[in-house]
Amino acid sequence: MTPTAAPVARTAPAATDTHCPYCSLQCGMRLAPAAADAGPPVEVLERPAFPVNRGALCGKGRTAPALLARGARLTGPLLRDRPGAPLRSAGWPEALDRAAAGLARVRAAHGPDAVGVFGGGGLTNEKAYLLGKFARVVLGTANIDYNGRFCMSSAAAAHRRAFGLDRGLPFPLADLPHTGCLILVGANPAETMPPAVRYLRELREKGGRLIVVDPRRTRTAELADLHLQPRPGADLALALGLLHLVIADGLLDEEFIAGRTTGFAAAREAATAHWPDRVERITGVPVHQLRQAARTFGEAATGMVLTARGPEQHSKGTDTVGAWIDLCLATGNSGRPYSGYGCLTGQGNGQGGREHGQKADQLPGYRSIEDPAARAHVAAVWGVPAASLPGPGLSAYELLDGLGRPDGVKALLLAGSNPAVSAPNAAHVTERLRALDLLVVADVVLSETARLADVVLPVTQWAEEDGTTTNLEGRVILRRRALDPPAGVRGELWLLRELAARLGVPHGFPAEAEPVFDELRRASAGGDADYAGISYARIAAEDGVFWPCPADGHPGTPRLFLDRFATPDGRARFAAVTHRPAAEEPDRDYPLYLTTGRVLAQYQSGAQTRRVAELTTAAPGPYVELHPQLARRLGIADGEPVAVTSRRGRAVAPARITDAIRPDTVFMPFHWAGAGRANSLTNPALDPVSRMPEFKLCAVRVERVRREEGA
Ligand code: SF4
Repeated sequence: MTPTAAPVARTAPAATDTHCPYCSLQCGMRLAPAAADAGPPVEVLERPAFPVNRGALCGKGRTAPALLARGARLTGPLLRDRPGAPLRSAGWPEALDRAAAGLARVRAAHGPDAVGVFGGGGLTNEKAYLLGKFARVVLGTANIDYNGRFCMSSAAAAHRRAFGLDRGLPFPLADLPHTGCLILVGANPAETMPPAVRYLRELREKGGRLIVVDPRRTRTAELADLHLQPRPGADLALALGLLHLVIADGLLDEEFIAGRTTGFAAAREAATAHWPDRVERITGVPVHQLRQAARTFGEAATGMVLTARGPEQHSKGTDTVGAWIDLCLATGNSGRPYSGYGCLTGQGNGQGGREHGQKADQLPGYRSIEDPAARAHVAAVWGVPAASLPGPGLSAYELLDGLGRPDGVKALLLAGSNPAVSAPNAAHVTERLRALDLLVVADVVLSETARLADVVLPVTQWAEEDGTTTNLEGRVILRRRALDPPAGVRGELWLLRELAARLGVPHGFPAEAEPVFDELRRASAGGDADYAGISYARIAAEDGVFWPCPADGHPGTPRLFLDRFATPDGRARFAAVTHRPAAEEPDRDYPLYLTTGRVLAQYQSGAQTRRVAELTTAAPGPYVELHPQLARRLGIADGEPVAVTSRRGRAVAPARITDAIRPDTVFMPFHWAGAGRANSLTNPALDPVSRMPEFKLCAVRVERVRREEGA
């Protein structure tokens, strides 16, 4: 079936072209009514015409319909009548009345900033947009942020600092195979987005070189020509060391530096202090490998660097990404075909979710909430005085850390996020969630965070609603409604409309996605992320449209910066940064690095994928990856339960012994709750620019525990 520009179908057609609900690749898929009466109501078919994944899906996408079945999800609102009481079933009017009255009560008693909103990078553009509008127009609060702050905010900050604009990839994925050398830093697409591995294979087949930087020998690292295995937290020094060698080896692109950049002199000086022996000492990467990497990248006709959470989720993430961008700029690998820096976003709408106003410091179109012209433009679209819009609010962890405190948020509306598992220092965050006067959670399932709520609102899923997301390439794509939701379930747009009406704003909150998107287009017009020329009809007809797309006839922008960068003078800016240690380095009491990440068969906090039998069979629980030398030293056998302890908490999980990890580092996946919750351990130290927590590194000790505790 060819995608059409047909209006929203109220009854499901025979087959519907749509997209996976999970990661930022947003693979195209086709949904058809399921043949069997029991089980999921739709089945997934290939959609080979969609260019990003060409029909390929990973197990998560293939099994996504399992959560559409009634038994796997929430099918009616839940209420808690008093603290400590169990959740009970309720009707929608009672649940909405309770939520609205609670929000109004806290706002009246403590002021608008005592009411907060917490969104998610998996929400569609329409939901993210309307959530931001709800916070600013209906609640009048500055305190809205979202879990995307935990995901790629450091890359976003570095992008804006260097290029004046933040779009994850400035080129389509299809450009990857045509570059001469690709450096993947802290990215493991072989597990996080397997269909994208095709691009890496094609790169190798065409003669391009692949360098992977990761403290673990991941499945992606096994595909590489060269695997650099630095200590966690050393990526900044590594990038500076490569820049030092590129300069020393005469591999600079002087013409590009002179013509299209500013600030190289300071960057050169910073790199000078990162000579090879010193960088080997900091990173643990041997000098001969540093030289090999610098030469391979510097001598390639074109080169790309892509980062993911590995170098970004640090208290120096913005500077680390800045150093990798500096390497690209120094070698002329930016703003030219088949070259450049990019960030592999994580969540399904990790890109669009940060563009349309659910971030504490932004208004739709990637506008700054502190820019008077941006405020005036958005206020005019919303029909409110610009002066009524609040200023910037607290970033995600700061908002969560303040919950229930005298000067913090006391009533929280949360959608599409599960911070009780996914936030750093998660036991503390769970305590703060418990301290709220009111917690309202909109979710598909009874997540660990929803279990703490006073009001739980069950919402529709990807296959039951229309809406757009923006994939990691900046391609705006369209999810289509393929079936009706269960009777007791409503969409987030509808429930925002209902809450707004109860809070005295009866207009301006459409319950259908396309009118919201049309308003978003107007609100984004003239902004960095300009969607003005994008429509549902165009997206369907063109397999997605790349922003910026400022007018109806505009073709969209698959490749950014080819003529100029988005800075005032059109030049890219070197960052000129220097290495510094992590907020918490190993010491005598906590002698090991802990790093965390994802596994192939689970997704983010696992709230959805842990409920899918096939995925849970493939990845049933947490584990602690240790090098054989470390295991021998600690007397730990493979499969034996071990305790990992940091200054913030303790987690227990079976040991998995592998020489794929460094002997000074242990790894835990972060998808699970309970005793094996990796985020019980992680450090909420924040990057000073992006406010990104330091998920990727903290100091721990590892000990054997009794088998009974491990069980
Ligand atoms: S790679 Fe990502 S988008 Fe594609 S099927 Fe898997 S989870 Fe879904």
